[in-house]
Amino acid sequence: MNPIRILLIGGGHAHIEVVRRFQSLFSGLAVEMMLLNPEPMAVYSGMIPGVVAGHYRTEDCLINLPALCECHGVTWNPGRFKALETDAQRVLLESGESLTFDMLSLDIGSVPATEPVQGAVHAVTVKPAHQFLRHWEAFLEQVDRTKPRTVSVVGGGVAGVELGLAMAHRIQTTQGERPWHWRLIAGGGLLEGHNPMVRRRAKQALDAAGIHCLTHVEVTAIQADGLQLADGQRLHSDFTLLCTSAVPPQSLSGCGLPLSDQGYIRVDEDLRVKSMHNVFAVGDIAHFPRPLPKAGVYAVRQGPVLAQNLLRLVRGEPLQPFHPQRRYLKLISLGEKKALASRGWLYCSGAWVWRWKNRIDVGFMEQYQR
Ligand SMILES: Cc1cc2nc3c(=O)[nH]c(=O)nc-3n(C[C@H](O)[C@H](O)[C@H](O)COP(=O)(O)OP(=O)(O)OC[C@H]3O[C@@H](n4cnc5c(N)ncnc54)[C@H](O)[C@@H]3O)c2cc1C
Repeated sequence: MNPIRILLIGGGHAHIEVVRRFQSLFSGLAVEMMLLNPEPMAVYSGMIPGVVAGHYRTEDCLINLPALCECHGVTWNPGRFKALETDAQRVLLESGESLTFDMLSLDIGSVPATEPVQGAVHAVTVKPAHQFLRHWEAFLEQVDRTKPRTVSVVGGGVAGVELGLAMAHRIQTTQGERPWHWRLIAGGGLLEGHNPMVRRRAKQALDAAGIHCLTHVEVTAIQADGLQLADGQRLHSDFTLLCTSAVPPQSLSGCGLPLSDQGYIRVDEDLRVKSMHNVFAVGDIAHFPRPLPKAGVYAVRQGPVLAQNLLRLVRGEPLQPFHPQRRYLKLISLGEKKALASRGWLYCSGAWVWRWKNRIDVGFMEQYQR
């Protein structure tokens, strides 16, 4: 009898945990697992601001997928998923290759929205994260030490605030106090959904870093050297970073998957795609019955549940539900080695919060970098 073939598409935060548990959970069973991810390195987003700020090396936030797979008896395939043929239990890759499966799971994340902004190709998007890190390093290398630059961050959520502060910190520590121009443009307010103390503290940090905040302002177009606002104003910008709200990384229409209005894959509480018995979706790409924020913390917590449910499906046992927490703790780094904790009405900040975040992040990475 052929082994049962489990295909994991995307080396996201949930799938790396499934890979890590593969041998311990499936030993003795005729099951083979393959992980498909176009790049050999997966990026742990929680540490990106720290890398940008210069507190970590780039490799500190990277997970070597071929090495992780080899260590846990999983096959790595450097392909990019293109389409799914549900009836044939087959996925098509961008290379033209096709792969069959008995069980499938998708964990392909999300990317910042670039529409309806015109000329978004002139900006750098924060995801795919490895591309963003490459652009940032290239920008740092070609920075002329004598010439101040203008940097614009579009997006007033956690990623926009953290990265604006991280970039400003890096430039101030490497280039000195020369008058670079920094701005953060938010379509709404800053850190909407967070409590007022958190928002006030973040604004203080942005002010102290010299980052000019434009809130309730729409960017309509981006050019190589600037951007255009809805009121017609044109602003100069040498480096424009998009940290806008999340959208699926590719259109999944035509794949036979049930999709939400935003194009995410609808799943049931057991993480199975609605009305499909052998296809799962997790992380940002999944649209849970009670829609969840697009946050890595949910993907991380779905990993063990997904691993268990794949095993249960192999054994013909009932699947277990994923119980998402209603609120989760957000630790927001502030450029220098300080951070802000936000959960409901909880607020605290300081160097000790950064050390707390550092312990969590480094501890997370140690599980996958050994
Ligand atoms: C700067 C920044 C900081 C953040 N900090 C935090 C934080 O502190 N806490 C938190 O909870 N959330 C944080 N987030 C949000 C977090 O990054 C996402 O919610 C999280 O990465 C989602 O994980 P995922 O498993 O869904 O996908 P990802 O981790 O994004 O992984 C998706 C993977 O799928 C691969 N992929 C994409 N398309 C294909 C394809 N067609 N075929 C095959 N593979 C594909 C990608 O290459 C990638 O490896 C942050 C986001 C940013 C931008």
